[in-house]
Formats: sequence, C-alpha cells, structure tokens
Amino acid sequence: MKNLINNNNFEKLKQNFLIFKNNKNLIYLDNAATSQKPDIVIKSLVDFYEKHNSNIHRSIYDLGEVATDLYENARQAIANFINAKYEEIVFTSGTTEGINFVADSWGKENIFSGDQILITQVEHHANFLPWQRLAQEKGAELKFLNLDKSNFLLKNLSQEDLDKLINSKTKIVALTLDSNVLGNIWPDDLLERIIEKAHSVGAKVLLDAAQAVAHKKIDVEILKPDFLVFSGHKMFGPTGIGVLYIKKDLHKNLRPYQLGGSMVYSVFCDKPAIYRDAPNKFEAGTQPIAQAIGLKSAIDFTNQNINFDELKKYEASLTSYLIDKLNLIPECQILGNIDMLKKEGHLVTFYIKNIHAHDLSAFLSKNNIATRSGNHCAQPLFELLSVESSLRVSFSFYNTHEDVDLFLDALKEAIIFFEKN
Ligand code: PLP
Repeated sequence: MKNLINNNNFEKLKQNFLIFKNNKNLIYLDNAATSQKPDIVIKSLVDFYEKHNSNIHRSIYDLGEVATDLYENARQAIANFINAKYEEIVFTSGTTEGINFVADSWGKENIFSGDQILITQVEHHANFLPWQRLAQEKGAELKFLNLDKSNFLLKNLSQEDLDKLINSKTKIVALTLDSNVLGNIWPDDLLERIIEKAHSVGAKVLLDAAQAVAHKKIDVEILKPDFLVFSGHKMFGPTGIGVLYIKKDLHKNLRPYQLGGSMVYSVFCDKPAIYRDAPNKFEAGTQPIAQAIGLKSAIDFTNQNINFDELKKYEASLTSYLIDKLNLIPECQILGNIDMLKKEGHLVTFYIKNIHAHDLSAFLSKNNIATRSGNHCAQPLFELLSVESSLRVSFSFYNTHEDVDLFLDALKEAIIFFEKN
C-alpha cells in the first residue's frame, strides 16, 4: 500500500466516529449514499432528548425556550455555512422534500401550459420526477441539457445555443451541482453562464447540492441560485433533516408547501389565514428539532476540522489512485470524466463487463466493504448510457489509500470468482 498523500489530520479525525470502533474492519465506501456521523453529532441528539426535549415556538416555559433557541441557532449556523441570510434557511426532511416543496408551491403557481422547465440528463430522480409530473400536469415541456457521452460532461454550449435553449418560455432551471453517478459534469464556466442566462430571461434557478455540500464550499452569494437544496445525512448530520435555501426576494409571494401548526399569525373560519413571515411560514407542524440541532453539530465539526481545499486534494488523491488501478483491469469500464475525477473527484462509478454490480457488491460485503450498486436513482442516465447497472465507490475524509487497496484486492477476487462460476 502506498500512502500517496499522507494525511494524518484526516486519519486522526476517523477516531471521532464510534461506528468505526464498533465495526473494526468496516471499509465504508458508500459516502454518496450517506456519510457516517461523528460522535459529537450523536451526542448532540442524545443531549437534546436527555436535557432539553420539548416542542419549540409554542412552549412558554424554560425548557421550550431553550429548545427553540437551539433550533434557531442551528438555522443561523447553516445560514453562515452557505453564506445565506438567517430567514432564507428552511428546514425540510431532505433534498427530496426540498425539491418537491419548490415544484409544488412555486411550480404550481408559476408554470403554465407552453412553459419550459430545464434540467440535465443526469439528474437524480429527486430532481427529475417532481419536474416531470409538474410538466405533465401543467402542459409544460421538460427540456434537457445533454450529456456528451464521449467525455461524460454536459455538452458545452455556445452563447447562441444558450440563447435558443433558455428563452422567455423557460420558467425554471433545476440542476445538480455534482452527479451522484458521474461526479462533476460541468465544463468550465457553463454553470455560471446558464445561471446568468436564466436570470436574464426571468427564470428561477434551483441547485441540487446533495452531493456537493460535503465536498466543496457552497456560497449562495457566488452561485446566485433562487433555491438550493441539500440533505443533512450526506454531510455528517442525522437523517430526517435537510435544508431548502429560498432567496429572500421570493418569500413574500411564495405559497407555503404544507399548512398547519404555528406557521400562521391568525386563522379565521370565514377568511384566509394570515401566515407568519419566512422562515416560519414555510415550516408547518412540529419541526425536526433534534435533527436540526444534530446538523448544527455536523457543521461545527466540519468548520473546526475540514478545510475544503485540503479535502478536495485528499479525496482526489484517493479517486486518482483508484482510477489508475481500475484502468489496469481489462473488463472495467469507468463512467465519468477521468481528468475531472482525478483532479477533483470524490467518487468513481464503473462496471465490470459480464458481471452484475449487485453480485460484486454482495461479494465485497463479505469482506466488510460497503459499496453501492445499481442505477443510483438515476435511471434516465443509465438508459442514455445503455448501461444496466454499475458499482460506485464514494469517499469521505476518513477513507484511506489502504481502504482502496483492500477494495481492489476483493474486487479482483470477485472477478475471478464470477468468471469461473
Ligand atoms: N440529489 C442527489 C444528487 C443525490 O445524490 C440524492 C441522494 O442520493 C438526492 C438528490 C436525494 O437525497 P435525499 O434522499 O437525502 O433526499
């Protein structure tokens, strides 16, 4: 095993994860599905239930006020993390709910017959199905930014192409920042040009940061989306919590997604209710209180321990090391832009000819190696690539070059086994 980049800091951080103490030989290579949780995140959940459990925004007693403060401090920490304003952060159950929220509340009021919705051919089902249904229901058209199959990047577009694609009929452009299958799919500056063009015709922009948020700095002042979504569980936080950033300008006219609880000032029998201001009007019912507090802990952990530039270099070194070794396996076909992945990747998706990825994943599991197989909730992409299924290895800072070596040894054993049987 060659430790190409000896990153002692990241290796030390692994000691903060009880899961690796409780599963001594676990090689966890499924971080794109969900990340592991540092002990302080788990402790913050236990602490909340042991010391502060009560409902928020409605309890006129000390316990409830402390719980409310903890929840609202979490909102502020998340706002700071992505350089947003406090009131622009809405808690959801995850990326999926965030996108459904926008498609349902903004979409139903702003998309009409003949309008266009633009997404890419590589979207996760979460950023595909809500737009497809909305388009069908409204008689709108779902359009795609096409993937260049020769290099696994979105086709670069001239200004003329862009002007044709994004026009007065375009009402929303909903794009993933990072594909959960291919990694980065953006040629230099295309994303920036698309966002600028969309805004110039009055279209809104939604960015799916589910994969990106644990690997790169997200700054809404730089990216300039109208909506941005991510999930806590992919960035070292608990499940059941996600973030929907809604640009302040949109708050006044945006219909709440769900109704109920204390998101209103006044409710009447004979006239419409008066909603509270954002973010409260967008959070109906009892909020995911412990989960938001847990997500704040994950963000504190990230702020204290992770420098995103160093992380990118480290994860790219693991990715590059894995790609070089996979390239020596003749039956292996990598899906993704190799140059881009080697420079800034954190995952590698591939298939081995004539062996089903589920079989490989099950074989690897016998060696305590966790990978993801299948179509990764991106069936339209797999249809486009004419690939049935694939295996994905996805990294976080607690992975090492030794993990990659052990994975490769087991993969080679699996290939020999399945070729014989
Ligand atoms: N978008 C992308 C790019 C993803 O990778 C995922 C999950 O893998 C999602 C959306 C959906 O996230 P969640 O299941 O946490 O809602």
